[in-house]
Amino acid sequence: MSDCIFCRIVAGEIPSTAVLDTERTYAFRDLEPQAPTHVLIIPKKHIVGLKEAEEADAELLGYCQIVAAKISRQSGIESGYRTVYNVGPGAGQSVFHLHLHLLGGRSLSWPPG
Ligand code: 5GP
Ligand code: ZN
Repeated sequence: MSDCIFCRIVAGEIPSTAVLDTERTYAFRDLEPQAPTHVLIIPKKHIVGLKEAEEADAELLGYCQIVAAKISRQSGIESGYRTVYNVGPGAGQSVFHLHLHLLGGRSLSWPPG
């Protein structure tokens, strides 16, 4: 997917600040952080978004959450953080390569906007 910015980040064609690189996922700092810790965890495989994911992707999506929990421990934000998928333009999805937001390091209100 040469026209996908997150595939290009995985390929190293667009620079990013790596947080955790694994065989199947890549985690990097969001360009416009919405919290002191704002990391994006993405599968290296191109999946458009959560609603396009298939049952065969279930283990990979669960692994993204485990990666987020690992990063939260490394970042010292375990007292309170949030993992979020924005699903579809109506929820603010602007990049159509599945990405899990990890937000923490400040108090997070509920419900989210
Ligand atoms: P979405 O709005 O699709 O849920 O989240 C996309 C996120 O990707 C946004 O928070 C945005 O700041 C981030 N983003 C977009 N382009 C880039 C980029 O080139 N590099 C990085 N590190 N983050 C990006
Ligand atoms: Zn992609």
